[in-house]
Amino acid sequence: MAYQIPRGCQDVLPEDSYKWQSLENTLREFCYLYNFDEIRTPIFEHTNVFKRENDSSDMVNKEMYTFTLENSKTSLTIRPEGTAGTVRSFVENKMYSNPDLPVKLYYMGPMARHERPQKGRLRIFNQFGVECLGQKSPYIDVEAMVLAFSMLKALGINDIKILVNTLGDDASRAAYREALVEHFEPHLEDLCGDCKRRFRQNPLRILDCKVDHDKDFMKTAPSMKDYLNDESKEYFQTVCELLDTLEIPYEIDDKLVRGLDYYTHTVFEIVSVNEEMGSQSTVLAGGRYDGLIPYFGGPEEMSGIGWAMGMERILIALEAEGIDLGSKPELDAYVMCLDKSARTYAFKVLTELRAHGYRADMDMMGRSFKGQFKAVDRAKAKTAILIGKNEFENKQVTVKNIAKKEQNTISVEDLISTMDEIIE
Ligand code: ATP
Ligand code: MG
Repeated sequence: MAYQIPRGCQDVLPEDSYKWQSLENTLREFCYLYNFDEIRTPIFEHTNVFKRENDSSDMVNKEMYTFTLENSKTSLTIRPEGTAGTVRSFVENKMYSNPDLPVKLYYMGPMARHERPQKGRLRIFNQFGVECLGQKSPYIDVEAMVLAFSMLKALGINDIKILVNTLGDDASRAAYREALVEHFEPHLEDLCGDCKRRFRQNPLRILDCKVDHDKDFMKTAPSMKDYLNDESKEYFQTVCELLDTLEIPYEIDDKLVRGLDYYTHTVFEIVSVNEEMGSQSTVLAGGRYDGLIPYFGGPEEMSGIGWAMGMERILIALEAEGIDLGSKPELDAYVMCLDKSARTYAFKVLTELRAHGYRADMDMMGRSFKGQFKAVDRAKAKTAILIGKNEFENKQVTVKNIAKKEQNTISVEDLISTMDEIIE
């Protein structure tokens, strides 16, 4: 049988790699503006980095690629998300003692989750994410959200909506949890299998269920906002006021609980409202977490906030809005070697062009004139640099401007010094 890529994975082929690079460049530029630094953590971690006691999320319970090598007792997991590894590193490297908190980090790279593949849902997919670690303030929450919103706008994605909610602090969550237990208990039999587990582990997560979503007892479930204590209310109010001040459009969605278990206070999602997105419309999601830094052994009171975007989903959203991020750039010059004896000379000219910053290529195989000219065409080269026996012997080149259909025979020095004008 022929070799095939595993289900739920995809190759980024050369022609699409330019879209990826353009996306990555925009994201990096924004991180530069907002003073976020990059962190690169390994693609696998000890399993307990992701699998925390009593975590009820699907990601941790059903979707992780966990393995133990023969002759080893160490259980490792390919990262399903970027936050846990980033926070692990933040603590392990004592970044919490940085005098300028929060430490603002970004990461990007592949994540692995064993899910049922569909459009916008892969088993290996890429996330770009940020984390602001070590301080808690509504300003930091809003900074992270503004960054996300500005990036998507700069990319040209307009059909988006920000959904915001608060899960409150531990005390508020505990009160809400009790209310949810009371509410769902009589319906226990009607809950899906996963929700039965969630009911025991973290009833909040039932609100995020995609199976039970439309059932009546979901619609009548109590709302978080009725269980917030004053401090949590005030925190959330400030977040909303700041978003208003900055004229960032958002909607409060009081059923938004997010897919991971460690969130407190602000949670948010950015969804695409473009119809072509299908059901995988959430392009970015995140929230504040109070418990995670202490979990990894960092200072007890330290909190963080972060979000992650699904890069494949961003590319789908861009396509849905008809935005082309870019394709293979044209060549400045294609060197056509027309005589075998001149090949080394032509190769030197090619190297010279590149050394002076011109994007250039050459036929190495001595193809026919016609064959090489087709290559010039395919490469959309701005110029063809023709080198035959004559040019070789006189240390010259014949440069042909493809668009203007003009050609001149000049020295290599003159080629280099006038190349800017020629390709203008
Ligand atoms: P979903 O509800 O779609 O499963 P999630 O809650 O599991 O999402 P997060 O863990 O918050 O998602 O990940 C952040 C973002 O990463 C998502 O909003 C989405 O854009 C992207 N993402 C998550 N899982 C996948 C996947 N399997 N394939 C592609 N992108 C994904
Ligand atoms: Mg998921």
